Amino acid sequence: MFLPQEIIRKKRDGHELSAEEIRFFVNGIADNSVSEGQIAAFAMAVFFNDMTMAERVALTTGMRDSGTVLSWDHLNLDGPILDKHSTGGVGDVVSLMLGPMIAACGAYVPMISGRGLGHTGGTLDKLESIPGYDIMPDNKRFGEVVKSAGVAIIGQTGELAPADKRFYATRDITATVDSISLITASILSKKLAAGLDALVMDVKVGSGAFMPTYEASEQLAQCIVEVANGAGVPTSALLTDMNQVLASSAGNAVEVREAVNFLTGAHRNSRLHRVTLSLGAELLVLGKLARDPEHAWQMLEHTLSSGAAAEHFGKMVAGLGGPADFMDSPDRYLPKAKVVRPVYPEHKGIVTAMDTRAIGMAVVNLGGGRKVASDLIDHKVGFDNLCALRQEVDSHTPLAVLHANDDAQWEAGAQALREAITLGDKAPAADPEVYRLVRNENR
Ligand code: URA
Repeated sequence: MFLPQEIIRKKRDGHELSAEEIRFFVNGIADNSVSEGQIAAFAMAVFFNDMTMAERVALTTGMRDSGTVLSWDHLNLDGPILDKHSTGGVGDVVSLMLGPMIAACGAYVPMISGRGLGHTGGTLDKLESIPGYDIMPDNKRFGEVVKSAGVAIIGQTGELAPADKRFYATRDITATVDSISLITASILSKKLAAGLDALVMDVKVGSGAFMPTYEASEQLAQCIVEVANGAGVPTSALLTDMNQVLASSAGNAVEVREAVNFLTGAHRNSRLHRVTLSLGAELLVLGKLARDPEHAWQMLEHTLSSGAAAEHFGKMVAGLGGPADFMDSPDRYLPKAKVVRPVYPEHKGIVTAMDTRAIGMAVVNLGGGRKVASDLIDHKVGFDNLCALRQEVDSHTPLAVLHANDDAQWEAGAQALREAITLGDKAPAADPEVYRLVRNENR
């Protein structure tokens, strides 16, 4: 029997906690026997003294086991259970394409996704642009769609890693979110509770990333890879660029439209293509569905050219309550803003920098994201046809097309976009889309 205050004292004084002590504390978070003040003190002690790798694994698995851990055995699936998770970005619509592409390669993707956080968009918010799409199906339906479509992207139920929910709420109000150990445990506890065979993490770097510097993103990627593998799930991470909006759009319905265009081949942004296939290739190798990344890349390209990925997406949408003909007529179903007009730059120039976070906040201010958790989202608003770094813009080539609900909102959004984009006369050197792959060194 332990005492929460003794566990906090031990961490405060810089000692290593045992796996039993950590599990006791985490169970106390989940069953409310540990108070909010004790959670705050524990988080601050970890923030200053950090954790060893063994402690991080114990915290992550303890939080994973604080609720239901899904098992897929009863479905007798004939492929591995695979998933991808991103630290969040702007125009990061990768999940909507990657899930069905991986499914079309023979894996099963029960993807538990989140809502937008701060300036970043949320996969669930995007999917709710599709009329009828149920992000909270019961477990039976979730399983049925995973089996029949190979992919189901849904929201988190209260039963998955409940300790994280309470822990995060306290961290959020006590300046203890930005601890690599705590972020790792928070992200992975929820992902590992989905009963995965392998995971690939997309850790963003740049002006729209959650982590403030390249070094911090790299440390988080390394920590996640080591802890997930330590918890028994083969995992790699890619450090990918967020110094510009990843897709050609940022918003909710506009990003779903872009995902459909990507899957059907009507339009494929090259950055989005490279990031999606790089993540997918690593995942197929981890899941033992491909010999090596080159083989995996070919398999993924084939899911696009054959239409198989588009088919899996359509099946997922229909299976979760959306229109059966969504892929044939997305414009019939996706909501449309009243004012849709291009935003031209004040003068001609080459795009030399993008404040990606500010573009994400412009979407939030248009109503496409939340300022407080209870806000309702306007799925119609956002940007599409966004310019890219190194591109020339002028009075004929816009910075983006802005979707707003009235003229005043359009003006405010246009102003925010112009301020977020820097123009010059010389193209900067190109950043790679993928900076680094972090693999488990012990595999
Ligand atoms: N996202 C999470 O889910 N948890 C964190 O701690 C930070 C980002």
